[in-house]
Amino acid sequence: MAGTLYIVSTPIGNLEDITHRAVRVLAEVDLIACEDTRHTRKLLNHYNIDTPTTSYHEHNERERAPELLNRLQKGSNLALVSDAGTPGISDPGFRIAKLAAENGIPVVPVPGPTALIAALVASGFPSDQFFFGGFLPARSNQRRTRFAEVSSIPATLIFYETPHRITESLKDAREMLGERAAVVARELTKLHEEVLRGTLGELAAKFASLDDARGEMVLIIDRNVIATEEGPTDLSGLSKLVAELEEQGADSRTALKQAARQLGISRDDAYRRLVAERSRAKE
Ligand code: SAM
Repeated sequence: MAGTLYIVSTPIGNLEDITHRAVRVLAEVDLIACEDTRHTRKLLNHYNIDTPTTSYHEHNERERAPELLNRLQKGSNLALVSDAGTPGISDPGFRIAKLAAENGIPVVPVPGPTALIAALVASGFPSDQFFFGGFLPARSNQRRTRFAEVSSIPATLIFYETPHRITESLKDAREMLGERAAVVARELTKLHEEVLRGTLGELAAKFASLDDARGEMVLIIDRNVIATEEGPTDLSGLSKLVAELEEQGADSRTALKQAARQLGISRDDAYRRLVAERSRAKE
């Protein structure tokens, strides 16, 4: 009989944030695959769990996934954990889950913390529809393109970001999405937990004034553009990209074509979005 692959969520800071079921499953399985075995051992020691561990991280997951599949096929029960939160959420996990599913191995989630949901519910922004974009690209031009891509999504936007890029990311977001309410949720569930609220512009100024921003952070951006002193000309997303390309010398047809290509959408779709954005900005 084949074993089961359990995808087990672990705390994102506070060690108490783990379910009874997660503790039981971690104690009962034959092997725990973890991103960093030493890091996970601290959690296991805290709960007196002595299950053997093996490493499974972004640099070895390609080789390790088939090995783990082999063990599952021979009947071992395995738990997958990451350093924090839910495996597979901006962490290794999807490859082994996919391989197990393709080979008829039961894949059982043991749900628990994940930083994006903790941050979303603390943000006070609508949570009926949200878009999670994972980590923002490190380079500004790629980040700006990413913001342009998501600018017309009618949902709360959520991203993971690192402290040394947060100021620049907030500035890029302000430019590409227009002024919006935002939250930076830092160090959730930890000693220095902080939920900073403001507009994108205010938060950019706040982080720019700090000598060194620290901690793990989630950036949450409201779906609506706030009317600013810049008024109705404060365009966002696609309009901004088109305007930038025009400033660089492209005529309006070429600018639209290039912007559509950058965003991976058709020219017709880009045209429709541009008209919608411009009429929204006039309202
Ligand atoms: N698998 C994790 C999850 O379920 O949230 C995410 C892992 S990802 C490698 C790490 C990023 O998640 C951090 O850079 C930060 O953006 C976010 N994060 C993790 N823990 C956090 C916390 N306690 N407070 C705020 N953000 C956190």
